Amino acid sequence: MSDSCIIVGASHAGVSLALQLRREGWAGPIKLIGEESELPYHRPPLSKEYLAGKKDLDAMRLRPAKIYADNDIDLLLSTRVNSIDTEKREVQLGSGESLGYQKLALCTGASVREFIPARGLESVFYIRTAADIARLAPCVRKRCRVIVIGGGYIGLEAAAVLAEKEISVTVLEMSERILQRVTNRTMSDYMQHLHESQGVEIHTGVEVESIREEGQEKLIGCADGTEFRADFLIVGIGVEANASLALSAGIESRAGIQVNEYCRTSDEHVYAAGDCTVHPSLIYQRQIRLESVQNANDQARAAAANICGKQQVYDAVPWFWSDQYSIKLQMVGLSTGYDQVVMRGSVEGGIQASFALFYLKEGVLIAADCVARPKEFMISKKLIKARAKIPAQHLQNEEIEPINFASA
Ligand SMILES: Cc1cc2nc3c(=O)[nH]c(=O)nc-3n(C[C@H](O)[C@H](O)[C@H](O)COP(=O)(O)OP(=O)(O)OC[C@H]3O[C@@H](n4cnc5c(N)ncnc54)[C@H](O)[C@@H]3O)c2cc1C
Repeated sequence: MSDSCIIVGASHAGVSLALQLRREGWAGPIKLIGEESELPYHRPPLSKEYLAGKKDLDAMRLRPAKIYADNDIDLLLSTRVNSIDTEKREVQLGSGESLGYQKLALCTGASVREFIPARGLESVFYIRTAADIARLAPCVRKRCRVIVIGGGYIGLEAAAVLAEKEISVTVLEMSERILQRVTNRTMSDYMQHLHESQGVEIHTGVEVESIREEGQEKLIGCADGTEFRADFLIVGIGVEANASLALSAGIESRAGIQVNEYCRTSDEHVYAAGDCTVHPSLIYQRQIRLESVQNANDQARAAAANICGKQQVYDAVPWFWSDQYSIKLQMVGLSTGYDQVVMRGSVEGGIQASFALFYLKEGVLIAADCVARPKEFMISKKLIKARAKIPAQHLQNEEIEPINFASA
């Protein structure tokens, strides 16, 4: 039997897992296999500084090329794993070659959800990979018109970048408010006003039904009869976990690859980490799937420790950030199920605003959304982990320093 560990997917989770394996003492070969052609890079800047043209790909590498060689990690790029034979403990590559493993780690991430009315049309772009931005970049010209379908984080980040380039940006969101899935109405309204103050048009409760091409123009038809025109479209309607490789190998998967608290799948020799997984959250007492760099890195490190024989439970507090214009939004925890929201600071001041929204359930802090409030963000991580009950008046009172929330 091979003494290799094979990692499928060479992005945030895969790279962290490979390097952590060496730190944990994995002595056998490590093969890190990714289908993208680029040396692994940070994905978040794609809809931020990279789209803005403020950063190039070389400034976004997860690790310099030398790190892989120094750690004796065999990085195979432009290589797809087509199937897994769990009986033989082998993976089959696109080239037809088979590679044996002792342990396998699936870090296959997620892929964009396709917007069916746009299928097969030119000038419709998604943002998931560096190659996606390379396709989109030539369309980004001053005074052209773009429609962004989807008012989630990625659509809004792209809208912010393009609005700053004197492009006419319209966001069409199907829900009654932007960011509905991830935050409360106060934050949605704040973000909507922020974008509108920068010239972005936002329409909510709008269902796009059809897209037609008229010469170089796109005509976007909505269920209520309204029509929009644009030179190009950006679609950001969410992602789906890449679980089909696992599923076809008989590894339990539904909305993602199912792992236990040790990041192990239903096959004892196969682990998984990152966007592709569904895992039990001890803090929230339910199964969750996350799309964040924090989760990809932390879960991968726990998986590496467990591959090397430890029994490390993955129980991190999720956190996420989003940059739009000059503001940094920092979110920690998951707000689903809250019964009270407490606001500290004020949404007044547009781009200068500074506030935090704390989400409580039966008095316990479960999540916080922060704009220009780094101290509140940092302490919330600890308090959520501790399942702390914090009186609402402490959270609101600006005379109490965040560090003293629990003790005041
Ligand atoms: C535009 C954008 C902005 C974002 N902004 C933020 C942010 O501000 N903050 C934040 O926390 N998160 C952000 N995210 C989310 C974050 O990037 C993801 O959570 C993170 O990339 C997940 O890492 P991963 O390694 O699990 O998966 P991925 O990054 O999706 O990587 C999976 C890799 O596996 C490869 N792969 C899949 N199947 C195979 C196969 N069969 N064979 C070989 N290779 C395979 C894929 O090609 C891909 O390279 C953003 C994402 C995007 C797209």
